[in-house]
Amino acid sequence: MDNPFAPLPVSSGTPSGAVWREGDVLRSSNGAVWPCRCVVCGRECSSNNELKLQLQWHPSWVYVFIVISLWIYLIAAAFTRRRAAITVFLCDVHLIRRQNGTRILIGFLVGGLAIMFGAFSMDYVGVGVIGVLLLLGGVIMGSLMMRTVRVIRIENDELWLKPPAVFMEKVA
Ligand SMILES: [Zn+2]
Repeated sequence: MDNPFAPLPVSSGTPSGAVWREGDVLRSSNGAVWPCRCVVCGRECSSNNELKLQLQWHPSWVYVFIVISLWIYLIAAAFTRRRAAITVFLCDVHLIRRQNGTRILIGFLVGGLAIMFGAFSMDYVGVGVIGVLLLLGGVIMGSLMMRTVRVIRIENDELWLKPPAVFMEKVA
């Protein structure tokens, strides 16, 4: 059996195949299928735990528009947005954590909204505030549990990504 902590089959510096390392970031081509290693912890994992990630990115200067108007920002973001998709893998532990994260996010979002609207419509402001806090807490916690790679840039069907530090430590 392979050593689960062996370096990932990813080349350093020069482009090779679908994924390669460039300093602190990983570069990938759009549509690439990554090596069968957990994208969170870098350990070997089952090819059944495949995860198709739909990623999007827009240039950071677009955020300037938030100061002017949220609507202008949303329109500018829609026009400058670039999308890409990659296939990554998760180990059993991180697959379950991601599934639980999705449940927490959806559960607290729906529950929080229901409490919020119910309470505010009946003028129970205190209860409404609890609903808002539950919603925010659940969304933050769920997002953290679902987290895999962070998009730094998408350009010409190529991606610049920042996976968790543990994963990068295992990249050659
Ligand atoms: Zn893992």
